[in-house]
Amino acid sequence: MTQIQPKLIIHGGAGSSLKGKGGLLAVRQSLHQIVEEVYNLLLNGATAKEAVIKGCQLLEDEPRFNAGTGSVLQSDGNIRMSASLMDGIKQRFSGVINVSRVKNPIDLAHFLQNEDDRILSDLGSSELLRELNIPIYDPLTDLRLQEWIEERKDNFSRTMAGVVAEDDVNTSARRGTIGVVALDQNGHICAGTSTGGKGLERIGRVSDSATPAGNYANSKAGVSCTGIGEDIIDECLAAKIVIRVSDGLSLADAMLKSVTEASQNKRDLGAIAIDNTGAIAFGKTSEVLLAAYHNGKKIDDTLEWTTDELMGTI
Ligand code: ASP
Repeated sequence: MTQIQPKLIIHGGAGSSLKGKGGLLAVRQSLHQIVEEVYNLLLNGATAKEAVIKGCQLLEDEPRFNAGTGSVLQSDGNIRMSASLMDGIKQRFSGVINVSRVKNPIDLAHFLQNEDDRILSDLGSSELLRELNIPIYDPLTDLRLQEWIEERKDNFSRTMAGVVAEDDVNTSARRGTIGVVALDQNGHICAGTSTGGKGLERIGRVSDSATPAGNYANSKAGVSCTGIGEDIIDECLAAKIVIRVSDGLSLADAMLKSVTEASQNKRDLGAIAIDNTGAIAFGKTSEVLLAAYHNGKKIDDTLEWTTDELMGTI
């Protein structure tokens, strides 16, 4: 079987601005390092699924992103995370919704790939943690706690936490969530997404990240989304892009059509995607998308892409 040039794109959220060089450079360094490490795995024969799991773990472990360590707090001051994995070749989705006290929620989504019951909510996820003997872990960071205390003083005036990519609580709000989409040497696609949610949300609110609206893949394409979960669900964004590709649109056209509709509907979101021809695409209605990719030749990112254009392709 002829080997295909692997492709990889990852994101660390989308939002309103990425001011401050320190922030930009630090975010760039984190994203590029992770792209490099995960792309090397793909070059060495890792499957798209293995690469996506590793990429999600690394992004979850990076406290500047809102997933795993560094997740934002909900309105009651607790962290509840959601993660999902979709294996494109099997067209199989698995995930956990609102899980607490675990280091890498993506590991639970991974485990559930081969189970009969593949999406678990809060109580079920905690039971699974116990069953798998996964050690208890507190993903809280000082910065997230400080942000929550600040917001609490104003009785939660914002609808979403200021998920900062910089170590400065006062910078303007931007969202978190992490995602990875990979194409491996066998032409298989996988997508993974993991989040601490919007932050400051009601207890029990369900994020898009562990739904096919936020994370979807089949044998043709894979997509991971970020932004306001309700907007992503209303657009059914990830599944819509993938299905459009399956029905014959190019990845670029599918992305453009889908983000144009989202923009007309005044949504606040971003998406990353890869198809089985090796095309990479990203789109956003938000001002900034924190994505980085390896296109087979080099690593690059979307951090300084603030134009009015809704999408880009490589
Ligand atoms: N989509 C996530 C959510 O609404 C948040 C984000 O992407 O920043 O839960």
